Amino acid sequence: MERKVLIAGAGPAGLTAGIYGRRAKLETIIVEQSFPGGTITLADKIENYPGFPRGVSGQELAALMEQQYRNLGGQILNGEISQVVPGKQQHTLILSDGQKLIGPALIIATGTTRKKLGVPGEENLAGRGVSYCAVCDGAFFKNRTVAVVGGGDAALMEALHLAHLAARCFLIHRRDSFRAAASLQEEVFKNPKITPVLSAVVESITGSTRVESIVVRSLATGKTEPIAVDGVFVSVGQQPRSEFLNEVVRLSPSGHILTDETMATSCPGIFACGDVRKKHLYQIVSACSDGAIAAYFAERYLTQSGK
Ligand SMILES: Cc1cc2nc3c(=O)[nH]c(=O)nc-3n(C[C@H](O)[C@H](O)[C@H](O)COP(=O)(O)OP(=O)(O)OC[C@H]3O[C@@H](n4cnc5c(N)ncnc54)[C@H](O)[C@@H]3O)c2cc1C
Repeated sequence: MERKVLIAGAGPAGLTAGIYGRRAKLETIIVEQSFPGGTITLADKIENYPGFPRGVSGQELAALMEQQYRNLGGQILNGEISQVVPGKQQHTLILSDGQKLIGPALIIATGTTRKKLGVPGEENLAGRGVSYCAVCDGAFFKNRTVAVVGGGDAALMEALHLAHLAARCFLIHRRDSFRAAASLQEEVFKNPKITPVLSAVVESITGSTRVESIVVRSLATGKTEPIAVDGVFVSVGQQPRSEFLNEVVRLSPSGHILTDETMATSCPGIFACGDVRKKHLYQIVSACSDGAIAAYFAERYLTQSGK
């Protein structure tokens, strides 16, 4: 399959790149391994995206963005990109089922995935009490006891979401204060179902067939103690989804794609936008802005190179 602009990932960055590409009358195709919308589909309520004075659910915003792209004639193909082969005239995307897509301009908008804790028990109890998404899995823990690990915005949002469902929620963070926005911290501290456990790390997750407890070590006293829980929600940061690029473009030590202000990468004709690129603000509004810039400069690249 051949298109002028190939877009990897249908999150806010990829969908916005698609919208701008279609408005410039470019043939675009987005390859998405899961559902269109990306990470915002995990957010219960978004209150900082302009145009929604009463807030909007992540799923609703995702559906609106997808609809806008499709209304402009944009295409989305379901598939996982496993390799990018750069070329002088055309770049190739190779999908895990063997399909190939070629095009002279490529926009990478594959966002991030959740980081793992890396403690014993996490891997073998994943899906059996260990989760990376409270919005997806919270309902399984109605009236149960859960723990959220992390101290940023996402972790506190997850704890607040779980507090609606679970009987009790421990919120474990390695620092002595949370990094999250002050408004979220205020909500957490006044929620009687949430018990913050600060200056503490999870050493292991235990259970025979499902999660039964976590072993927590206090960084203040060095003492370890088990806490009985039915579920553990890991929210300790994001990992950029750039592994399939295999050094095709320059990456930061953390694996984020390095771009200039036009979203151009180190490889001509390959652009990157959204959370997968190295930048300062990882939010929906900046992902959309990146997507618009990437599509604008992809179009200029195509015109100037006569492709
Ligand atoms: C719980 C939570 C709440 C949040 N709340 C807010 C909020 O209130 N306000 C705000 O501004 N931001 C919020 N964010 C951050 C926001 O979601 C991100 O900044 C934004 O989604 C980034 O968009 P993106 O398009 O760059 O990446 P993503 O949204 O991550 O989309 C990337 C897409 O690429 C796809 N993909 C990845 N790899 C491949 C591959 N190899 N092949 C094919 N497809 C692939 C993924 O499936 C995904 O759909 C929140 C994040 C979380 C986790």
